[in-house]
Amino acid sequence: MLEVFRHWDTATVGLVNSLLEEAGVQTVLRNWEGSNIVEVPIPVIYPNICVLNGEDYARAKEMIEAFMDGSTAEGQEWVCTECGESVGHQLRECWNCGKERGMLND
Ligand SMILES: [Zn+2]
Repeated sequence: MLEVFRHWDTATVGLVNSLLEEAGVQTVLRNWEGSNIVEVPIPVIYPNICVLNGEDYARAKEMIEAFMDGSTAEGQEWVCTECGESVGHQLRECWNCGKERGMLND
């Protein structure tokens, strides 16, 4: 078994694990049970995910990297659907044509 991911937060580990399972990667969770009642967090006993098949390792790593990037990339620009301009993440509407960003998700 090869470890692909380790994190103190069981919620994050659970999310990553379901992501991998959905992609057909067979995984094993370690240090999962009882990890929330540990009073002193020690990295060695953080919950972690292993892949059962070595050939899934690279693919799993890629997916995890993409996932972690996506969840932390708050500074990403968005593209206006109206005029195609790139708009800073802090702006709620397009600086060019005034179209609201919220429309993108509707
Ligand atoms: Zn625009």
